Amino acid sequence: MNRKGTLFVITGPSGVGKGTVLQRVIQSMDRLYFSISATTRNPREGEQDGVQYHFLTREQFEQRIRQGRLLEYAEYVGNYYGTPLDPVEEHLGQGEDVLLEIELQGALKVKETRPDAVLVFIAPPSYHALETRLRGRGTEEEAVIQKRMNAARRECAGMEHYQYIVVNEQVEAAADELRAILLSCRCLRTKRGFALE
Ligand code: 5GP
Repeated sequence: MNRKGTLFVITGPSGVGKGTVLQRVIQSMDRLYFSISATTRNPREGEQDGVQYHFLTREQFEQRIRQGRLLEYAEYVGNYYGTPLDPVEEHLGQGEDVLLEIELQGALKVKETRPDAVLVFIAPPSYHALETRLRGRGTEEEAVIQKRMNAARRECAGMEHYQYIVVNEQVEAAADELRAILLSCRCLRTKRGFALE
């Protein structure tokens, strides 16, 4: 069967806990590829090149833009972030679903260039809950937290462009909802390539 995978675009403000939700889903489902983005931001403690991100200099990143090697890219809080194109195409072609965890501007670019992509927004239960989480993480300075809260408000205002919303009040319940979205897309007649014999 020559089934092509679906491209899922997941967005959620920084601190919403999307990493944990996505991890649970990735660990529990097959035929799923999580895209590793490129970025010019510095690695946080414990982050490794090629695992969480491909960490690049601005020069390297801009070269990739010029070479057309990114499916999308955006500047976010002073750094570039972008999705390498080749692995996405490769995995979709192999019939795997591909998850991009990217911010709003990038998501809107993907929606424009790939209208069949499925957009999912992971929302916090409230702004207050989000700020508490960001502070609890303890990895950012106050000025960065305020920048990220401003970015979060802008990002949440873009929720209307997404087909699905998952509210992350409780991680396991949010993971269940995301799995349900992925599974329902796999059952679409147009995706299934199924014929009775
Ligand atoms: P962080 O610095 O916290 O890892 O990520 C900051 C933001 O960049 C998050 O909202 C994340 O979704 C977004 N992001 C990560 N990778 C990409 C990417 O490849 N493209 C775009 N447009 N945003 C990304």
